[in-house]
This record gives sequence, structure tokens and C-alpha cells, in this order.
Amino acid sequence: MGTSLLEVDNIKKYFPINEGKFGRKSGEVKAVDGVSFSINEGETLGLVGESGCGKSTTGRMLMRLIEPTDGRIVFSGKDITNLKTNELRKMRKDIQMVFQDPFASLNPRHTIGRIIEEPMIVHKLYGSKQERQNKVQELLEVVGLNSYHAKRYPHQFSGGQRQRVGIARALAVNPKLIIADEPVSALDVSVQSQVLNLLQDLQKKFSLTFLFIAHDLSVVRHISDRVGVMYLGKLVEIGDSDQIYNHPKHPYTQALLSAVPIPNPNTKSERIILSGDVPSPANPPKGCAFHERCPLAIDKCQSVLPELISLDNGRHVACHLYQNKEESRV
Ligand code: SF4
Repeated sequence: MGTSLLEVDNIKKYFPINEGKFGRKSGEVKAVDGVSFSINEGETLGLVGESGCGKSTTGRMLMRLIEPTDGRIVFSGKDITNLKTNELRKMRKDIQMVFQDPFASLNPRHTIGRIIEEPMIVHKLYGSKQERQNKVQELLEVVGLNSYHAKRYPHQFSGGQRQRVGIARALAVNPKLIIADEPVSALDVSVQSQVLNLLQDLQKKFSLTFLFIAHDLSVVRHISDRVGVMYLGKLVEIGDSDQIYNHPKHPYTQALLSAVPIPNPNTKSERIILSGDVPSPANPPKGCAFHERCPLAIDKCQSVLPELISLDNGRHVACHLYQNKEESRV
């Protein structure tokens, strides 16, 4: 794995809650509340958690589609947190997104050829229309479609084919980092693995780096080198994929994984049923945000927020059960 491509340092996104006739601010939703991680060149970091945990907001902040409330984002050694319009446009050439719903993210009135060509026009790549069209043909073949598909419209494709178009569009500007936000969750299970295999092949072919956001842990395992688990706007565990899947430390990670079907029927695993719902990020519980649902909570959990601390081999966990071990803060 290469050197660090992306460094995210304590990013936050608080959305104001406005109420009353004059829209006065009455509170805030802490959608992302102090998240830090890094991704190395050529690596895939999976970001998982239940709906509303802040993982998609985190992905969109990295693209600056949502402005962070606080924190710092460094990409390719450059601080991109406060880039202005022109520089931001240049940066977006290097960071591309693949979205969950391929149909909603493709303009239904444009041909597939035009959809894939458009980012090349925006970023002034290639000297002539012919060169751009040649590139479109090449990209269609790279993602497993045919060059004649360029003349067709999004509604003429299946969900899996549309996601291939979305991937071709992201590749059109030769990005370094791809943020894939639930890219297979709208697809049939049989098609999911085809798209995941395609992403892995493209990663090797184009030396891509991925941030792969998903709620389905089995999907993330398939593709990730490392995995970060989010709960209520915070990262609660992050580490090597095998480490996390084989020996999860955080009680929330343990509960999430206990719900994932095991391929080997001889391996027994007890399902951990969590009580209650995810609390509102507008009114998070004091102490550990997970304490109301945690089967292992101790007194301290109700009042003291656990820090993300370093355990074994680069794994970090935010849980009081590990705070007394030999540790160092991130
Ligand atoms: Fe559970 Fe306490 Fe650990 Fe939170 S800090 S996960 S409540 S044991």
C-alpha cells in the first residue's frame, strides 16, 4: 500500500434546527461529530453503520458537496477544506463519486455517450470531440458495456448496467480517489457481486483508491482493506478488515457482525439483539452514545465519552472496556 492520499482530521457537520416564525435556531443535528481517518494510495477503506450514522455526510464533505462545520481535509498533501470555486473544481477532477441510485444520478434526457463525455468537457480534457468520443467508447468497454451503448438512454438499461455507466462517468476524468456511496445497495444480489468485482478490477487497472460507504457489512468485507464503523456521527472502531470481521472489539461492531449471515453453516455465532432505536443526533445521549443499547455498558458509560484509542496493529476503538489497556490516543 502506498503513501497517504487522504487525511481527515476531526471533521464535523452540524445542521442547524430552525423553528418558529422567524426561523430562529433552536438546536443542531450533529450528523458527523469529530471523525478522523486516513486512506493510503491504492487502498479501500469501507465505512459502515446504520442509516443516519453520518457515513454519507462524511463522504459528501470530502467532495465538499457539503461544507464541514469544523475539521480539516488534506488530499494529496494539500489542505482542501477551504478551497474556493476554481481550485475546488480542479480538485473534483481527482475525487469522483459513484452514487447509490444510478437512475437518479444519470440525466434521463442525455445519451449515455453524452453523460460520460460531460465531465471531460467540464474539466477541459482532450483536444477534440473525436478524442472525447474515443475515450467514451474505451470507457464503455472497460466497464463491461458495448461501444454502441453510447447512443442509448439511461431508461434502456438495467440497474447494474446503469451503475456501470455511473462508474464510467467517474473514470472519465482519471480520478485518484473514488467515493462510492452505497453503490450496490439498489441492485439485485446477483448483480451486486458483478459490480463489486468490476470495482476491484478497475482499482488494479487504474491504481485507484476507494472510500466505500455501505450499510451492508458483507458487501464492505468483500472489497475493503480496512473498515471503519460509525455510530451516531462518530467513528467507534476502525482497523484492518480481517481484524474487524474476525475479532470485533466494540460492542456495536460485535452486534452488527452477529447479524451478518455466516457462509459456513458449521460455524456457530450468537445473534446480539440490540434494544431500542438509534438515538436522535439532535439529542444524543450523554457519555457513550451507544450506552442505552449496549449489553456491556458500565456506570462510566452514561457520563463519560470514550475516546478513540489505539489497540493492536493499527486498530482503534472508542469504548471504556478498553481504556485501561496500554494505549495511546489517535
Ligand atoms: Fe458499551 Fe460503554 Fe463501550 Fe459504549 S463505552 S460501547 S456503552 S461498554
